[in-house]
Amino acid sequence: MSSSNAYENAMQQFDAAVKILGLNSDQQAMIKDPRKVIQLMLPVRMDDGSIKVFQAYRVQHSIARGPAKGGIRFHQDVTLDEVKALAFWMTMKCSVVNVPFGGGKGGVIVDPKQLSMNELERLSRRYIADLIEDIGPDRDVPAPDVNTNPQVMAWMMDTYSMHHRQHLPAVITGKPLEVCGSEGRGAATAQGVVFTLEEATKALNMKLQGATVAIQGFGNAGSHAARLLAPKGIKLVAISDVSGAYYCESGIDIEGALSWVKDHKGVLSGFEKSGNVRKLDNPMELLELPVDVLIPAALENQITEKNASRVKAKVIAEAANGPCTPEADKILNEKGVFMIPDILCNAGGVTVSYFEWVQNRMGFYWPEEQVNRELDRIMRQAFKDVFSASQKHRIPMRIAAFVVAIERLKKTSELRGLYA
Ligand code: NAD
Repeated sequence: MSSSNAYENAMQQFDAAVKILGLNSDQQAMIKDPRKVIQLMLPVRMDDGSIKVFQAYRVQHSIARGPAKGGIRFHQDVTLDEVKALAFWMTMKCSVVNVPFGGGKGGVIVDPKQLSMNELERLSRRYIADLIEDIGPDRDVPAPDVNTNPQVMAWMMDTYSMHHRQHLPAVITGKPLEVCGSEGRGAATAQGVVFTLEEATKALNMKLQGATVAIQGFGNAGSHAARLLAPKGIKLVAISDVSGAYYCESGIDIEGALSWVKDHKGVLSGFEKSGNVRKLDNPMELLELPVDVLIPAALENQITEKNASRVKAKVIAEAANGPCTPEADKILNEKGVFMIPDILCNAGGVTVSYFEWVQNRMGFYWPEEQVNRELDRIMRQAFKDVFSASQKHRIPMRIAAFVVAIERLKKTSELRGLYA
């Protein structure tokens, strides 16, 4: 999606929810715009001895409900508008699940595939070094996003801690387990998808047992979702990734697909050779299959005004961020498709990030079972809050999620008042 569209879309969503809530211009002003936008030029020593300068951003959209919270993206197409939109959505996401964080996001314009490990480490450390006054366990807590991973988080946490001459793991979440990470973080997003999907099927009087499911994307969110849904008795009829889409009417062997990916460098390439799986000529067909549940878990802007009318799923669970455009949303809504919107559906990741932050501050670490128990409680409650707002105001689930989030932000900002 073009970055300006991302920010425009975000602002349209804000306006739609604000209309329902009847917020006046002062109330809107306290919530809408980012509180701090930081632009950086990061000089980094390359392996050949030369210096390269990378443009980078950190946007703190909100610090009303707690420290800013959100990932850092390393990508050649990062723009400030995109980072602003993502930071806004983090504020909304944290508020929907009612965890005590605001929203933020970071980005560096870089294609990390072009960097050596040493260059990547120097860039990651420099990014944090230049933000040393702006981040912190009580200020702004970054995490991984596209092309950043637990190793990058470990370097960033180390840089911050070394600078302060203290062990400060709560400055960053998404760290490896050995560096004060949390149990359950890897599958947290998918686990949250499953909890909200269970609640949705209950609300719709549908059974998950025997329901047909298609999943677009078989990475972290998609593959864990498949694994966690298997014991619920679903019939997974289609999966896809960058290599293509794979269909099996009688149901894909989920364990088989997971081990295929493990044995084939993380991709499904060649999976049609297993069992009676068929590779679809056009991978986008997956989105139009006659299934009960569709889980987009890959990229943004997959369901648009071009294909929305052909979507046959009864429920869409948005594991990915922004997989449906606003135009598609309208069409899907008119068709009566039940939407579990991204800021609710995939909030399991940030919720377990919150647990990681809590554990870091306590210095006491929970077993995975406890992480999942707390996640279960938070995700199901968030679903109920959004569903009842949707019933109360007779609005689609997506707008309802923004209504719940913005209402909480409004109350907080009224109670806190305006400083100075
Ligand atoms: P990932 O990189 O682990 O996996 C992405 C998957 O999508 C891969 O299997 C990739 O091959 C596939 N893919 C890429 N292009 C595709 C295409 N054109 N068609 C079909 N599949 C394609 O990423 P992830 O962490 O699983 O994230 C997926 C989505 O979920 C993103 O939108 C991300 O923002 C969102 N999300 C992830 C988390 C998390 O904790 N991982 C949290 C919140 C939201």
